[in-house]
This record gives sequence, C-alpha cells and structure tokens, in this order.
Amino acid sequence: MNYADDTIAAISTPVGHGGIGIVRMSGQGSLPLADKVFKPSKKANVAEAKAFSIMHGHIVDPGSGEEIDEALVSVMRAPNSYTRENVVEINCHGGMVAVRRILGIVLEHGARLAEPGEFTKRAFLNGRINLTQAEAVMDLISARTDESMKVAADQLRGCLSERLAALRDALLEICAHAEAYIDFPEEEIEAGTSEEMVGRLAKIAEETGRLARTFDEARFFREGLSVAIVGRPNVGKSSLLNNLLQRERAIVTAIPGTTRDTIEEYLNINGLPVRIVDTAGIRSSNQAVEREGIKRSIEALEEADFVIGMLDGSEAMKDEDRDILERIKEKNAVIAINKSDLPGVINLDGGVLHDKKHIFISAKKGEGVEELKSLIFQSNLGNWKEDREGIIVTNVRHKLALDRVSAALLRAVETLRTDQPLEIFAIEMRDALDGVGEITGDVTTEELLNKIFSDFCIGK
Ligand code: GDP
Repeated sequence: MNYADDTIAAISTPVGHGGIGIVRMSGQGSLPLADKVFKPSKKANVAEAKAFSIMHGHIVDPGSGEEIDEALVSVMRAPNSYTRENVVEINCHGGMVAVRRILGIVLEHGARLAEPGEFTKRAFLNGRINLTQAEAVMDLISARTDESMKVAADQLRGCLSERLAALRDALLEICAHAEAYIDFPEEEIEAGTSEEMVGRLAKIAEETGRLARTFDEARFFREGLSVAIVGRPNVGKSSLLNNLLQRERAIVTAIPGTTRDTIEEYLNINGLPVRIVDTAGIRSSNQAVEREGIKRSIEALEEADFVIGMLDGSEAMKDEDRDILERIKEKNAVIAINKSDLPGVINLDGGVLHDKKHIFISAKKGEGVEELKSLIFQSNLGNWKEDREGIIVTNVRHKLALDRVSAALLRAVETLRTDQPLEIFAIEMRDALDGVGEITGDVTTEELLNKIFSDFCIGK
C-alpha cells in the first residue's frame, strides 16, 4: 500500500497526567475516521469541516455506543498541515485512560499505529521539509537549553539547507562548464578557465570545511560540555558541586576520601549544557573502594572537555596538589583556589600552576562561583556568538557528509592541477554533489531514512 493511502495515529502528548492529551491522525482516511468516532455537539461533520476549524463534541465508541470523553477536534487539510496530508487532532482530557482508549478506538476503526517519527517522515516524503529540517525537529524536542533550541530552530527554518542549496548551484555551474569541454574533446581546456575553476572550487571546499568544523563547537550544545572537578580530598569539590547545583546532591563531610564515586549532574551556563563530574579525591590509597574511585577520577579527568583543578587556599600546597596540577597541565583547565573566606596560606609562586588561569572562590559562601561559571563558558566558547555566522552543523551525519564533500572537491582540484582527463574531474564532482544531496535528503536510501526516523518519539 502506498504510504499516502493509509492513515496513521498516535498519542502526541507525553504519557502521564496532564490537562489535555492529544491523539493525532494523518492520512487520507483521517477525516471520515474522525466522523466514525466523534459526535459533534452541533449538527456538523468532520469530513465537511473547514480547514483549521475546531469542533466540540464527544468521542463515542462506535461498537458499544459508549461515550468516552468530551473532546475538541481540530481539522487541518492537505496540503496545509504538518504532514501535508489531512490531519485530525483529538484534544481530550489528559491522563492515561482517555488518550489510550481513544487511540485504541481509532486503531480499531481503520488507522494504523504510527511508527516513531512517522508524522515528520511524511512531512519529508511529501516535500514539506527536507531531511535537515526533519532532523532539526528532533533536536528541538530534545534540546536541553535555550541556546540548543535556537540552533535547532535555525536549522528547522532551513538556514543550513539554503546554504547547501547555494553550494550545490555553484558546483553544478562548474560542472556544466566542464561538461562543455567533455562534449567537445577536441577543444583544449584553456589555462585561464582551469585556473578559475580551481579558485572557485577551492573556495567552496574551504566553506564546506568551515561548516564541518562548526560541528565540534556545536557538539557542546547538543551533548553538553563535560567538566571534571579534580583535587585532593577535602579541598571542597563536593561543596563546589553543591553550590553550582544549588542543592545537596553530593555528600559533604570533613573526612578525606568520602566522595567515593564520581557524580554527574547537568547545569546550564548561558545556555550551554554543562555536565559536571565530581570525582573522588585523587590520591594514592590502599583501600580497594577508594582506589576504584581514584581510577575513575583519572578516567573522568582524561575524558573531560574542561577541568576545574581545585586547591585549598587556606593550607600550604601539598605533594598531592602538585601531582594533580601536573596531571592537568595539558588540559583545558582553570585552577579554583577554594576557601577564600579563610586566611590565605597557599603559595602559588614558582610556576606551580603551569600558567593556567586561576580564580579565588569560596564554595561554602558562594563567592567567585559566578565568575567561575563565566570562565568555563569563555574558556570553551569565547568566540561562540561571533564566529558562527548563523549556521552551525550539529549533526554527525551532516558533518561526515561535509567532510566527504570537502575531500572530493580537493581531489577534483587536484585533477585539474595535474591535467587529468575531465571525465575523472566529473567523477569527483559527482561525489561532492552526492555528499551535499545526502545531507538535504535529495540523495537518500530507505535504510538511511529508517535509521533517522527511528530515533524519534512516537507521535511526532
Ligand atoms: P571534597 O572532599 O573535595 O569533596 O571536599 P568537601 O566539599 O567535602 O569539603 C571538605 C570540607 O571543607 C568540608 O568541611 C567543607 O565544609 C569545607 N569547605 C568547602 N569549601 C569551603 C570554603 O569555601 N570555605 C571553608 N571555610 N570551608 C569549606
């Protein structure tokens, strides 16, 4: 059966208790199906309802005649709907029972349960959005902060696909130019023409490379920046974590070595999702449990994008402190000198900090914590707003395709530089164009689509 002929249905609101719940249907049969299960309060029917209208009434089980729930039914007609098909949304009372029963009834009377992301997949297959926009829908839903959401919204508006369309046009123009020579092999390609093509291609390759590089920065907005707090026991790591999170998540005690395990928490710094890992104190230990904790701290330290190295400013520097400073000297890190509320004792002379930035804080009193937060942001994304020029790549699939495009373009340039036959040039250009098409979904496979949409939630 053609996908357009069957009608899909799903619960589109989160399952649980809520003010309203929505069962959504899309497809040819959605309007007549709604008429089977919905009894409007006024004399009317859904099949004849105007687009974008809402009707009040009751959902009734056609089998038993039982009234299930009071509902508002909204009607959207093809092609002006999310999927470009006829869409009906049944707004009923929120809660597990009403939405599930209504879904059950529409499934019994002709709809099929939607697969994850199938509404969005149909929007793509029906040409309303391209693949990058479909993927942005998913990013939008799973965004953890305002900034991640803005990045996804830009992509949903089509910023990335517009840029890619411009790149594709430029590549096609160059191809057309080269094909003229392929069609008339007796004509020698002029030196000037070849040079000009090289220049234009190199510029496009540079741009695709730049776009691909934005992925690394954007990764932080999608996955969060992982930050490890390291320091010997009792310098105040758990206190700092608590202060950052403003709640008592980690256990704070005055006995060294009590933070046995690593603890992970998310916080939001200027829209950047930050995953803080509080590690067990790094120090040599004979106790098995603690040794395991130390091993994990060292791993967390190595994997972290950013490290807060903590010292106790109220005590003299110890060998363990020097050892930690040594371990983090190659990392992107800041040194937080804690307990600034107590008289300062620590001596920072002699390059012990390995030229790392340092900041005085009091985890207990909360002094310097805001400055520490902005240091975390600045040290990782200081140029974020200025550098991104609107478009950033957040999806690994896009990044890999862009890498493929850049590589193909550089090979194409090489064939021109070394006077290879234009047919070989054309093959490289085709590869580059396929790479661009793969991102927007112009070139696609069933397998790829299934993979992308299976990550969605049902009902979207
Ligand atoms: P951790 O072992 O590094 O996680 O250290 P904790 O956070 O458990 O703190 C160890 C001790 O130092 C506790 O008694 C805290 O109350 C104390 N402490 C932590 N931060 C400060 C601070 O800024 N000033 C003072 N005076 N004491 C602190």
